[in-house]
Amino acid sequence: MALLVQKYGGTSVGSIERIEIVAKKVKAARDAGDDIVVVVSAMSGETNRLVGLASEITDNPAPRELDVLLSTGEQVTIALLSMALEKLGCPARSYTGSQVHILTDSAHNKARIKDIDGARMHEDLQLGRVVVVAGFQGVDEHGNITTLGRGGSDTTAVALAAALNADECQIYTDVDGVYTTDPRLVPKARKLERITFEEMLEMASLGSKVLQIRSVEFAGKYAVPLRVLSSFEPGEGTLITLEEEGMEQAVISGIAFNRDEAKLTILGVPDQPGVASKILGPIANANIEVDMIIQNIAEDATTDFTFTVHRNDYDRAMYVLNETAEELGAREVAGDNKIIKISLVGVGMRSHAGIASTMFKALADEGINIRMISTSEIKVSVVVDEKYLELGVRALHEAFELDKKPAA
Ligand code: ADP
Ligand code: ASP
Ligand code: MG
Repeated sequence: MALLVQKYGGTSVGSIERIEIVAKKVKAARDAGDDIVVVVSAMSGETNRLVGLASEITDNPAPRELDVLLSTGEQVTIALLSMALEKLGCPARSYTGSQVHILTDSAHNKARIKDIDGARMHEDLQLGRVVVVAGFQGVDEHGNITTLGRGGSDTTAVALAAALNADECQIYTDVDGVYTTDPRLVPKARKLERITFEEMLEMASLGSKVLQIRSVEFAGKYAVPLRVLSSFEPGEGTLITLEEEGMEQAVISGIAFNRDEAKLTILGVPDQPGVASKILGPIANANIEVDMIIQNIAEDATTDFTFTVHRNDYDRAMYVLNETAEELGAREVAGDNKIIKISLVGVGMRSHAGIASTMFKALADEGINIRMISTSEIKVSVVVDEKYLELGVRALHEAFELDKKPAA
């Protein structure tokens, strides 16, 4: 007998019919003898609808109140799923995050889980009940409702699996596993049987929204066996594993992309110690996260400095940078929020040369101009104009033959 944590995302619980299908799947797993804890998201579109309601009142809702609002989406689904389970004769209990003591810090809208008390869930499981927990939400030490950031139900599921010492955490979604790239953009994308935590973490942080970044971090840290599978079709899905001998030895395992990018440049700043911190300090103080950074080589005594931020932060970053430009006596400030980032990810890069040059050639052959480049041990990222997203990702998928299974 195993203990499984199963998470069903928004599309999988998007209607009453779908909730009843999920109930049948959960019951079947329990009837097979396993203990089941289910984590559910809000019904698809619901979280966006709630965000929309808040924005009809104010552009700047209090983060605390936004969490009270957003957490209602998941509360609807836990109740409906429990009713559907009971209707099938499967005893079930639903719980909000705070009812099962998912304790988080107080960073509203992006809280981190600090602790979970599994006692109540273990009691229910012992009584033969399925435990249904609301994803995406927790409670801080003062009793305030918190949420974990968009896509946060994945993290709830992994954190519960770690706290309950589950045998596997299964993420059921609307695709049947992790693919070489988003199958919605590239129909020839190939499903991976396995991917390492390290690669999945890189894919998630570079824009693949199939799993929330924090869920992968958590799973890696606590060695939670994690699997992504389809809610609608049978299959083994994709297992996220530690690196093993004999794994599919692809040099590149996937391509991630991120549409939420914008870049800003400050031109003609003095080339002196302390300038980078004078430029980026105020950006950090405004709570804006910076991703890529490039400083040009100085030609005269001045230099240019470019960095990227989340597109939502573009206007604020521009405002802050203009103020800095005046202080530093910079020549000019420029920006572009119609850019995107495409990244190649693979642990095999460590032992293979020439990946970046193959990448740049494939993009050049399509006439795609590269605006920025950044590399690390297991990834190469490029920033290009937004209009090249699809062409760029498809060209790279072809160039690295990601549709073909690598030789073992
Ligand atoms: P859920 O609502 O179940 O949490 P999400 O929409 O958050 O589902 O995540 C699933 C989606 O992730 C898929 O529909 C797919 O478009 C997208 N996706 C992005 N990159 C990948 C990838 N590499 N492999 C599989 N799916 C991906
Ligand atoms: N409902 C939340 C969202 O849409 C959390 C989740 O689905 O994981 O982001
Ligand atoms: Mg999701």
